Amino acid sequence: MKIAFHEIIGAEVTREISDDGWFPHDDMTLAGTLDGHLSISKKSDAEALVTGRLQALVELPCDRCCRLVKTALSADFEYDCVVGKEDPHTGIDTECREEDCCRIYINEPVIDLGEILREQVYLALPVQVLCRQSCKGLCHQCGADLNNESCSCSSSDLSSPFAVLRQLKGK
Ligand SMILES: [Zn+2]
Ligand SMILES: [Zn+2]
Repeated sequence: MKIAFHEIIGAEVTREISDDGWFPHDDMTLAGTLDGHLSISKKSDAEALVTGRLQALVELPCDRCCRLVKTALSADFEYDCVVGKEDPHTGIDTECREEDCCRIYINEPVIDLGEILREQVYLALPVQVLCRQSCKGLCHQCGADLNNESCSCSSSDLSSPFAVLRQLKGK
């Protein structure tokens, strides 16, 4: 999913996200809708602006019990794509400090829209994934899913290395 600067004709060109070839299938499972819209406008022969919106339903493992949880991701983004290299002398980019606007440098006047979308998927991932707030997780010792069963492992100081030692000794 790429667009070359010479394909940007008129005020702006829009693209609907119709394929998922760019989607990071190795890292997560697409569980439903993948919806997106991109508009690309040319500011000069060496600079183009990409704005877009992405919505996806993915499956991510619960941080505690590893059960897959359907999670809706959504992102609004804006990228300023500049042909060339970042000038190390100008240092901090003062024009574009807002979090939602990123400047990226490209070697040739071709924008890889898939790369932008992929980055947005990762940025949209929640900090914590839980199947439910009260998820009890898996037992650190026997791996039992404590949401469904209780195990006979000692529930005290599971994370302590001494607990592990005690268990080894008891064998
Ligand atoms: Zn869980
Ligand atoms: Zn256990």
